[in-house]
Amino acid sequence: MRRTRNLPVGSPEAPKPAAETSAPDSNSRREFLKTSAGALGVAAAALGSQTVVGPALAQSRRILLKDGIVLSLDARVGDFEKADILIEGKKILQIGPNLNAGNAERVDCTGMIVMPGFVTTHHHQFYTLQRNVIPDGLIVFAGNPDQQVNAWPHEAYGTVPGNIWTAGRIAEPGSRGNPGKVIWDLGRIPYDPEDNYLSELVACLSEISQGITCGTDTSQANHSPEYTDALIQGLIDSGRRTLFDYGGGTNRSAQGLPYEAPGAMNDTTKGIGRIAKKYFSSKDQLVTLGFAGGSGPAFQGADYTGWQLGRSFGAYINNHAVGNPMGIVTAAADPRNGNNWSDITFVHATRWQDDAVAQIGQGNAGYPNGHKSRAWEIVRDRGAHVSIAVLIEMQMRHGMPPFQAAFDHGILPSLSADVDTNMTPDPFSLMRGAFTIQRALANDLAFPESNPGKLPIPQLVTARQCIEMATIAGAAGSGLLDKVGTLTPGKEADIVILDPNTITIAPLNNVPGAIVTMMDTRNVRHVMIAGKFVYRNSKLVGFDEQKLVRDVIRARDKVLARINSKPLVGAIPPGLNSSTNPYRPNFFDSCCHKGLNTTAPEYKLRP
Ligand SMILES: [Zn+2]
Repeated sequence: MRRTRNLPVGSPEAPKPAAETSAPDSNSRREFLKTSAGALGVAAAALGSQTVVGPALAQSRRILLKDGIVLSLDARVGDFEKADILIEGKKILQIGPNLNAGNAERVDCTGMIVMPGFVTTHHHQFYTLQRNVIPDGLIVFAGNPDQQVNAWPHEAYGTVPGNIWTAGRIAEPGSRGNPGKVIWDLGRIPYDPEDNYLSELVACLSEISQGITCGTDTSQANHSPEYTDALIQGLIDSGRRTLFDYGGGTNRSAQGLPYEAPGAMNDTTKGIGRIAKKYFSSKDQLVTLGFAGGSGPAFQGADYTGWQLGRSFGAYINNHAVGNPMGIVTAAADPRNGNNWSDITFVHATRWQDDAVAQIGQGNAGYPNGHKSRAWEIVRDRGAHVSIAVLIEMQMRHGMPPFQAAFDHGILPSLSADVDTNMTPDPFSLMRGAFTIQRALANDLAFPESNPGKLPIPQLVTARQCIEMATIAGAAGSGLLDKVGTLTPGKEADIVILDPNTITIAPLNNVPGAIVTMMDTRNVRHVMIAGKFVYRNSKLVGFDEQKLVRDVIRARDKVLARINSKPLVGAIPPGLNSSTNPYRPNFFDSCCHKGLNTTAPEYKLRP
C-alpha cells in the first residue's frame, strides 16, 4: 500500500541504508565552486577528493545559538523569550535557557528571532533567467475562455516562457497536437545545460538569502539526460535542501537530443530510474527525489500509473492539480494508487468545487455555503498534502487560492512560489498573501451589503498559522517533517535567524505578527542548513553574490542571442508587445496586450 518512506530495509524497493557521508563528494564540489571564477560544474568532478574536510571538524562541530527569541513551532519544545540552541554536526542537540555548551562556537542571538527555516513546496526554478518576463500575463489552460488571447501573438505565460524561452518554438494559434503547426522553430532548446545548472544554483542561493532552507523544484526542463543532470547538480552544489520533483521537458529527439522522461518500472538506464540510481540511493542527503508523474498511466500504453512508477523508486509525489476535481476522484477509484496518500502533495488545488459556488463558500459540513467537494474529502481522508501558490494563483488565474477549503477540511496547506516569470518566491510575501486573502474573503462576509444571505463568518487565519504553513506544512509536504520544519532536538538544524532590530520593525511586540505582517528579506540575518551557516551576517557563505548576478545576466543574454539566431523553421512573428528582429521582451510597458482581455472596456484612469 504505502511504498515510500520507512520502507523495510532489504525489501526490493528499499533505498540503501543511509550513510553519514552519502552526499557524493558534494563538499569538494562546493569548495571548488566557491573558489573558481567561471565554473558551472563542468570541471568539478575532476577535482575528486583533493579538498579534505577534517573528520573531527565535520563530525563533532558544535554551535551554540545564544540567547535568541526562540520560536520552535514544536508544542513539546515550546517558545522562549530567551534561550539557547545547541547544534552538533547536522542536528539540534538541545534547546533551553542557559545551556552548558562546553567549547561550542557561540553565536550571539540576543534580541533576534530564531526559528525553523522556511519550506516551500513548488517552484519551477529553471525560470531564473526569465524572471519578471511576463508580470501581467495569465496562464494558458485548455477550456479557459481566454484561450485565444493566450495564443500568439498574445504574449502570456504559455507563449513567452513556455514556447519562446523554453521549447524554442511557437505553434499557430488554435492548432492541435503537440507541438501543433509550428510557425517558428529554433530547432533547439534555447537554454544550454549550463543554463539549467546556473538557474538552479541561483534560485537556491537567492532563496537561502530569503530564509528558505528547503524547496521543491519542478523544473520542466528535463530535455535530455544532460539537461537533467545539470539541474540536479545545480541543486546539490547550492548546499540547499531541495526535493527534486522530476518531470518532463521538451522532446527534441527529432533534432537528436535523447529524450528519457519519464522512464519505466525496474529500468535504471533512463528517466527516473536512471537519476534514482545515480543521485538518490540515500535519503540522508540534502537533495531528495520527487516525481511529477500523475495518477493515470505513467506513459502511453503503460499498465502502471505515474504514482506507481515514482513510488517504485522511492520518490515523493508532487502533482499539479489545477481545477479538475474529477481527476482526484478518478485517481482514488484506481486501486493501484493506494489508499495512503501521505506521500503526495497536490499543488494549487484550485476550483475543486462540486457545484458552481464561490471559493469562500465551500467546505465540509456545509460550511458556510452548504455544499461539498469530493476531491477535498478524498485528500483529507487519504492524508495527502496541499500546496497553495497563493500569489501566482491570484495573479495568473489558476483560481482562488483555496485556503478556506483546506481549513474547512482540517488541512494546513503549505505555501509555494511556482514561477519567477511572474512573481517573487520570497516567504514573507507568500505568508502575507495567505494572511490577507483568507481574511479579505472572510471579512467581506461581515457586511450585509456584501452578504445579504447572512452566511456565517469563518475563523480568521492567524499570523502564527501562516508561519506554520511556511514551515511545518512545507516540511510535511516535502516528505521531510521527521527531519526539518520545527526546532526539535534530534531534527536537522535548518534555522533562520531574523533581526527585528531594524528601523522598519522595532520595537518588537508580537513575534509571529512581526514576521508575517511587517518583515521582509532584509530582516534575514543568518541561515543554517543541516547545522552549517549558509548565509551569515546577511551574506551568502562561500559564494560571490555579485558574480552570480553577472553570471545570470550573461546567461540571459546568451539565451536571447540563441533565440534570435537562425531558426529551423519560420521566424518569430511579431507579438503584440515585444520587439522583433531581434526578439526582446517589452522592457518598460506591459508585457501583455490589454491585460489579455479583449472584451472588457479599457480603464480610462485619472489620478
Ligand atoms: Zn507549477
